[in-house]
Amino acid sequence: MSISDSKETTQRMAALHQKFAKIYGHQPEGIWRAPGRVNLIGEHTDYNMGFVLPFAIDKNALVAVRRKTQLDADRQTLDFASTYGSGEHPPITSITFDELVPRAVPGWAAYPAAVLWALNQLEGVELGGIQLLVDSDVPVGSGLSSSHALEVATIVALDDLYELGLSKVQMAQLTQRAENEFVGAPTGIMDQSASLMSHAQHALFLDCHSMETQAVPLPLAQHDAVVLVMDTRVEHSHVDGGYAARRASCEQAAAALEVQSLREVNAVAELEAIEDPVAKRRAMHIVTENRRVLDTVFALREGDLEAVGKLLYQSHESMRDDYEISSEELDVAVEAAMAAGAIGARMTGGGFGGSAIALIKREHIDKVSQAVREAFDQAGYVEPAIFTVIADEGAGKA
Ligand code: ADP
Ligand code: MG
Repeated sequence: MSISDSKETTQRMAALHQKFAKIYGHQPEGIWRAPGRVNLIGEHTDYNMGFVLPFAIDKNALVAVRRKTQLDADRQTLDFASTYGSGEHPPITSITFDELVPRAVPGWAAYPAAVLWALNQLEGVELGGIQLLVDSDVPVGSGLSSSHALEVATIVALDDLYELGLSKVQMAQLTQRAENEFVGAPTGIMDQSASLMSHAQHALFLDCHSMETQAVPLPLAQHDAVVLVMDTRVEHSHVDGGYAARRASCEQAAAALEVQSLREVNAVAELEAIEDPVAKRRAMHIVTENRRVLDTVFALREGDLEAVGKLLYQSHESMRDDYEISSEELDVAVEAAMAAGAIGARMTGGGFGGSAIALIKREHIDKVSQAVREAFDQAGYVEPAIFTVIADEGAGKA
């Protein structure tokens, strides 16, 4: 069973309905759901037009929305509220359409506002005022893409309510535009695609150049295996420099090789033509990572989890040594998990903090979790949050 139809989600939906009515004095027109994601493998390859293999997880953002009517006094304003960290009385952030200016909306409301902004740019689309309340259990800033869960839940809701008829690819592209131009985070297209296009018990093999997808069955149950998330509780931030710097290095490497994107590079030997040693190492990660994604898809289809595990760990080494986006905490989590018998482990998401994942036998959940906790304790880090995730269905009406 996926979380989308679990008892817990039903309870959260009922509570969200009530809270919406209390805050806004009206019933919402509906509730929409969008999951966070784990990236199994294929890191920073999306903006290099390469391959990624994420899956949606059983943690999601729920948004309740109501379109305002003639009877609403302020029918042209956009009202946003979130249950996150706000106790019984979430404050409402109200903005007008005139205030929908890139990088001008402060705080978390920039994410749903960005989606409205992107939709409003579309020919023939005219949105009115709305009331929106979000309730998400995707941990914030942990590299599981809580920001995209919020954006995707918002776009799915608006697509439905305003009968826009957008395709999933269009919604992915619009939320990317929203995040890049309005919020100001130079992220790729993987996260929103994972949230929109994933299927339960499958990973999403996405070609970020053609936007073609394949649902790849995850043979975890057959092998009594699970994916464990180890959240370091060190928040990453994409709006800051590290991510943008990696993008710039990749562009530099592509320019040196006279290709449109590093996707076009198939053999590591071709990288010899890059003079700058940093750009060369960054490109090395991208080229080898694309290969590892293809190999992982093959190994999953063969049911060879040992091979998948090796690829996950190689991916981690590549991110640690060549792409340099890991952190001490992520390395400690990965090494402790491996030493305690994980089949494979790697940091996941943009890096510089956030979460690592481990592919482990179900019977090793306690052993691996304990080993990681102890390693963190010994290193003097804050206690990590450790939990298993299941591959869930992508976004839709809840
Ligand atoms: P990640 O997407 O990996 O969790 P980001 O830094 O990209 O980390 O996004 C986190 C931001 O998304 C938060 O700082 C907040 O602005 C917004 N956000 C995520 N979830 C919620 C929520 N439930 N309520 C309000 N804002 C949220
Ligand atoms: Mg994010």
